[in-house]
Amino acid sequence: MSVKKVIVGLVGVIVVVAVLAVGFRNQIFEQLVTKTAAKRMKENFLADLPDGLHVGLCGAGSPLPDPKREPPCTIVVAGKRLFLIDAGSGAGRNIVKLGFNPGDIEAVFLTHFHSDHIDGLGELMLMHWGGRPTTKPLPIYGAAGVSLIVNGLNQVYSQDMTYRVAHHGIETMAPGGFGGEARVFETPIKEGRTVLLDEPDLQIVAFSVMHAPIHPAVGYRIRYKDRTMVISGDTAKSSAVQREAKGVDLLVHEALNPKLVGLLQTQADLAGNKKLAKIFGDIPNYHTPPEQVAEIARDAGVGYVLLTHVVPALPMTAMDGWFLGKSRDIFTGKLKVGADGDFVSMLPGSKEIKLVNRH
Ligand SMILES: [Zn+2]
Ligand SMILES: [Zn+2]
Repeated sequence: MSVKKVIVGLVGVIVVVAVLAVGFRNQIFEQLVTKTAAKRMKENFLADLPDGLHVGLCGAGSPLPDPKREPPCTIVVAGKRLFLIDAGSGAGRNIVKLGFNPGDIEAVFLTHFHSDHIDGLGELMLMHWGGRPTTKPLPIYGAAGVSLIVNGLNQVYSQDMTYRVAHHGIETMAPGGFGGEARVFETPIKEGRTVLLDEPDLQIVAFSVMHAPIHPAVGYRIRYKDRTMVISGDTAKSSAVQREAKGVDLLVHEALNPKLVGLLQTQADLAGNKKLAKIFGDIPNYHTPPEQVAEIARDAGVGYVLLTHVVPALPMTAMDGWFLGKSRDIFTGKLKVGADGDFVSMLPGSKEIKLVNRH
């Protein structure tokens, strides 16, 4: 057979397949949706996870738009219990993308009340209510001021609550499960710590950080069995973070590169946007440059550093090294610029730390 005939034959086959695919397009889509939905509905990532302390970034960014990072949101699995630290916008959807049901969240812990840490909270409270049968609101822990936020959000969504109950019925959407319940804790003073949960296998402790003029602002230390993690919250370089991070397996620390933010400030200035230039000029003094995070990690003897609240946006992974500056010379252990979907697993009885991206 000549080459020409083969080509004509192949083109013919392709045309027939294409015509058939177009003709059966909707059936193909139906099959695809049914298969995917069946798989997703049966999946229970939380139940399938091995016993351990797992930490996922459902938001590794800041208020600045970043294609790889939504505002702050960190999910923590301790055994089969699910907790959330901060709920920036997109938190609920990103938690689902990680493979979790927001209805399984046992409690939320807020680091402080800057908008980027709470602007997904209202939506998350609704997703918690709709995710699983529940007759109790979602507990939301925070220092003084948390009641104002939780009660305010409950009020904002109170009309939505009546719609959902009216539409789906009281058995499906029990009114008692709606919204959040503020759990105020005492702000830790100076070197102080507030123990929020203290069980043989699980301890959650809050400690104050340096985010002035924002007060209160806390970080959290979580221990599950013999594995530990610290999350810094928003802070300038803090001796409290270093103290709490001593020997921990994982340090999830915020990071801002002042040099890169300086570039944005200059451009805002040149463009005549004085307001934005002023804001860019103000923000470095209450965040931590990556090199200083590296110093903390080195001095505290941390196992793994995962940077979060990454400022400014880094749309390409190739920019991570530029963002880190000399950090890797200062801290020679494992250090990663976090992105949404990063998921760290630490199993008891080992020192191993495994990271995958689930997005
Ligand atoms: Zn903040
Ligand atoms: Zn923030």
